Amino acid sequence: MDKIFNYIDGQLVPSKSNKWIENVEPATGQTYSLIPDSDHEDVELAFSSAEEAFKEWSQKPVQERSDIMLKISSLIEENKAFLAEAESRDNGKPVGLAKTIDIPRAASNMKFFATGILHYASESHQLNDVAINYTLRKPIGVVGCISPWNLPLYLFTWKIAPALAAGNTVVAKPSEITPMTAFLFSEICIEAGLPKGVLNIVHGYGPKVGAPITEHKGIKAISFTGGTKTGEQIAKVAAPMFKKLSLELGGKNPNIIFDDCNFDKAVSTSVLSSFANQGQICLCGSRIFVQEKIYEKFKAEFVKKVQNLTIGDPKNKDTKIGALVSKDHIEKVQSYIELAKQEGGTILTGGKIVSIEGRCKKGYFLEPTVIEGLSYDCRTNQEEIFGPVVTLNTFQTEDEVLMYANSTPYGLSSTVWTENITKANRMSKALDAGIVWVNCWLVRDLRTPFGGVKNSGVGREGGFNAFNFFTEQTNVCISY
Ligand code: NAD
Repeated sequence: MDKIFNYIDGQLVPSKSNKWIENVEPATGQTYSLIPDSDHEDVELAFSSAEEAFKEWSQKPVQERSDIMLKISSLIEENKAFLAEAESRDNGKPVGLAKTIDIPRAASNMKFFATGILHYASESHQLNDVAINYTLRKPIGVVGCISPWNLPLYLFTWKIAPALAAGNTVVAKPSEITPMTAFLFSEICIEAGLPKGVLNIVHGYGPKVGAPITEHKGIKAISFTGGTKTGEQIAKVAAPMFKKLSLELGGKNPNIIFDDCNFDKAVSTSVLSSFANQGQICLCGSRIFVQEKIYEKFKAEFVKKVQNLTIGDPKNKDTKIGALVSKDHIEKVQSYIELAKQEGGTILTGGKIVSIEGRCKKGYFLEPTVIEGLSYDCRTNQEEIFGPVVTLNTFQTEDEVLMYANSTPYGLSSTVWTENITKANRMSKALDAGIVWVNCWLVRDLRTPFGGVKNSGVGREGGFNAFNFFTEQTNVCISY
């Protein structure tokens, strides 16, 4: 059985306890590798190494840091096919998606922040003829990066890259559900010549590895992406220690379709924004609101397209819907489909487990599911399901749909479909969301602020926001 190792002090090592966790391939339901079941001892070793490495890494000329990161980026690109296959196997996502989205994005995260840091400047403020202020921006020290399973290498690198570029050293923890590409990434870092201790990757469960990272007195900042409940726990621990916190959490995003939209584009993009990655993207639009006049037409076209999505082995290049990430997760999603029925919803399509002949017989496959007839404030329409399940809802006026859209505790992203620019602007301003897409979805410019409002998170990542997070400021005031 393949083994995944921790990456500590430049070495690939098992956990101190030498205990292992089984890593399951979602498409087959079979264990295919073992993950170190690490704990606070391993976190301590990782921290000590990162603390030592900080002395040199933080002083290294920025161009040298950038060069090493660019080498890592190139190696990701060179190994794109292999990494995509590994990601698909570990997560259940279609290999085509991993090849076109996950892995290229991991490479561009490294490249973007490696080059971005070369253009990062701090401010100065002149106070009449009294004094000049300038702001020093210094790396924080050892920082913690904790990431989820849905976009494994994509989100792992999204955090690590700005942290390293800004001169910090890192103790990172990928999700125990999808650890493989983080492990392969550690091999790439070694090959690229990343000095030992600059990045340490500790594998294992959240409470045994993530919690000790959060609780560690020497780790001064935590960048976390994951569920809102976990974010809450992290905030409780980190706040009294006055740690810097960036929390990218859950969502329940509205997809709002006005009757003056570009209909064909709205329908086809909505299929993607509902079911890409089996609906397991924090930015998926899981509540679709369609204006009354086009509701029936939209419903018919949307359901037809959803029924044409190919569900199958993630290894097949034609597969559009792969496996859900785990047995626990598919059961959770199924429980929401049952709840939706109890709440009076009608399943328009989907709702059932899919059995695939051959190697995927025991995999976690679920039909993409579309439900209508629910009230905007029922649990199905308020709680994050994070699977291939969307609801169709109708509305008449802008005010009404705004009330529905903003009614959840979340505020990550929203999508608005209209050809009326004034309406689009009005809606964008009124929606409770960190990101609003108008007539598109998941179009990402890495320079823009990324994050949510309300229970979807605290802080913004992306572009210089990430460098601002991963640096500490000192204002120097010099009298004339
Ligand atoms: P999760 O919160 O269960 O786990 C995320 C990470 O936190 C994992 O590495 C996990 O091991 C670790 N963890 C668990 N308990 C911990 C603890 N007590 N202390 C520290 N770390 C701990 O989330 P998940 O199920 O892996 O991911 C799905 C969630 O992530 C969804 O809610 C989704 O919306 C959210 N998400 C948000 C974004 C965003 O950018 N806002 C992006 C992707 C996913």
